[in-house]
Amino acid sequence: MRVQKLIGFDCDEVLANFHIALEKFVHLKYGSRRYSLDEITSYHETQKLWGCSPEEAGQRILEFYDDPTGLIGISPVAGALEVINKINLYHRMVVITLRPPSTEEETRKWFDIYFPNIFEDIFFLGGRFSKKPRSKGEVCKEIGVDVFVDDHIKYIKSVSEVGIPSLLFDRPWNRNEGLPPLTTRVFGWKNVLEHLL
Ligand SMILES: [Mg+2]
Repeated sequence: MRVQKLIGFDCDEVLANFHIALEKFVHLKYGSRRYSLDEITSYHETQKLWGCSPEEAGQRILEFYDDPTGLIGISPVAGALEVINKINLYHRMVVITLRPPSTEEETRKWFDIYFPNIFEDIFFLGGRFSKKPRSKGEVCKEIGVDVFVDDHIKYIKSVSEVGIPSLLFDRPWNRNEGLPPLTTRVFGWKNVLEHLL
């Protein structure tokens, strides 16, 4: 019999097409040139693509968070809905995101639309917008996550350091670094399913 596990998922670029919506928002508001995800080699350095300072880039992201149609207009990542519903038959699931707590209401509304009654909880860690953010590894350990799924090597590393296995969701910005211990690269949601069932 299959043992029920607690699976932790990152939100943006794993479940939600965050950057596609952000890119469009910044283009419409600031006239930045259009680009695809394939051009992003460093996820937190989009100022290079926008032609602005890192501070200005941070400000634009905060404006996107505050935009009434920003977060709610994000589409789910292809394959996520179907696979998450299948995993839900066998395992418990939570979301661990670096979105700041100020986005909680809109983010929960978004999850109610696309993933109603699926995730047991959503943890908002704040990341670059928090003075003292907890690491994803810390939270995974605290709540007893068995497997964690993220698109960022940095957060996978923090989970690997506390001895929890991870799946790295393949994205253009995570292809140039070696994988930390206990980590497997996965290519899309079908591949996630193969590893979790
Ligand atoms: Mg992410």
